[in-house]
Amino acid sequence: METTINSLNKMYSLRNLTIKSFHDGLVSKKFSALEITQAFFKHIKESDKRIGAYLSLNEDGALKAAERVDIAVAQDEELPILAGVPLAIKDNILIKSLPATAGSKSLENYIASYSAGVIQKLKSEKAIFLGKTNLDEFAMGSSTENSGFHITHNPHDPLRVPGGSSGGSAAAVAAHMAVAALGSDTGGSIRQPAGFCGVVGLKTTYGAVSRNGLIALASSLDQIGPITKTVEDAAMLFKAIAGHDPYDATCTETNYGEELWNPKLEQVRSLTIGLPDEYFPKGLDEEVQKAIGKVILDLESLKINFKKISLPHTNFALPCYYIILPAEVSANLARFDGIRYSRIEDKKLNTKTLRDIYMRHRGEGFGTETKRRIILGTFVLSSGYYDAYYQKAQQVRSLIKNDFEKAFNEVDVILTPVSPTSAFKIGERVSDPYSMYLSDIFTIPANLVGLPAVSIPIKETLPLSSGGGRLPIGFQLIGRHFREADILAIGQFYEKIKASSS
Ligand code: GLN
Repeated sequence: METTINSLNKMYSLRNLTIKSFHDGLVSKKFSALEITQAFFKHIKESDKRIGAYLSLNEDGALKAAERVDIAVAQDEELPILAGVPLAIKDNILIKSLPATAGSKSLENYIASYSAGVIQKLKSEKAIFLGKTNLDEFAMGSSTENSGFHITHNPHDPLRVPGGSSGGSAAAVAAHMAVAALGSDTGGSIRQPAGFCGVVGLKTTYGAVSRNGLIALASSLDQIGPITKTVEDAAMLFKAIAGHDPYDATCTETNYGEELWNPKLEQVRSLTIGLPDEYFPKGLDEEVQKAIGKVILDLESLKINFKKISLPHTNFALPCYYIILPAEVSANLARFDGIRYSRIEDKKLNTKTLRDIYMRHRGEGFGTETKRRIILGTFVLSSGYYDAYYQKAQQVRSLIKNDFEKAFNEVDVILTPVSPTSAFKIGERVSDPYSMYLSDIFTIPANLVGLPAVSIPIKETLPLSSGGGRLPIGFQLIGRHFREADILAIGQFYEKIKASSS
């Protein structure tokens, strides 16, 4: 798995490259963007057969972009922190002239005609896009097993899922097939796979990052965010993609600064962390519980205060989400009618009626989970049921929001597990949607309320029953709206403790 490059007689391992260390090495001319990019493609071609993180590669485009970065380095131009950094992009985020399938067979021939707002921002920073990563179809799922193309394996144990829906992005970063990645998070799809793969995943505040050019799942919940090796990298990538975009009216101007990646200990010590009772239920996996207990001790050693809190409507978050999300899905996916974004070339269509087109495009192009949610969503929005289900769910959403508002009067940040278990086995939950849905029970509330939340790998990992390896576990920090700085600051100090004791 280890790919090293030999540059100026020094060995550099892709494993150790972070955004920060890449930038330092590039500007001090220890290596070129081109040799690193080439090394990544070599490694991807060797390793991705086993992992299946990528759906398509952008080799020509990436190598050309790397050459342009190297010219800028040679001319001693001042380079943005992301210049030349090889990134993996979830395949529901558009990059002009590259495929964008959203993991769906229905879009297998679609080539993006424009770049998403986040991609335009990253292009202006001269970042490099290695390829597009696998996901559950339209980002619906928690294991990447709902992809219309292939499954992705967890790099820590190939028999287990990488989580989902951004499983390809998380696995690519964990297996050193990209320095960092972008994912999208509607109910946990950045944080849960990050937790399962042992990397950092940040779900950003609703409105902090543009969703223009993200293939929409549920527009009142979706956010794009970074998946990285370190919290510092997440802060840097977040800063690069945040901010106003004239093509996304929900996205606001932000003024995040250096406090994101250069936090002060006094700032962290002034924060109080809340521990919500409801997130530590009786049935919680014992190993997860133990690992979180150790995180609390580590953070207490920094003299951070903890306080027990209650978020009483937590139990309603999952049912509330599984009404609101399918309702929005049924509306958003209506545009994939087979006419504008057709998977079948006109001459091969061989259809006589509109119904035939729908059958070929939606009937054959959509997978089981997508159909399940469209049907559910159409039902909860139908007349006679709208008030009983959809409207009720929106009211419950307000109660959940009020819980957080009250909690944030007492504490600054909330600490919870990311998922009730570590990565489960491939195939274990596919036939039981409810047990799959439970995997997001701790991540969904932040989406319902639009709060920023980060998943951070815990130092302690679980021994694998099946052999010598170990499985990662993550913990989650949830912050106030637009206070990514608080959760990222605590995360960075936790990482320091982790580094000093390992
Ligand atoms: N796993 C959740 C779902 O299936 C979350 C998906 C997401 O965040 N995109 O809806």
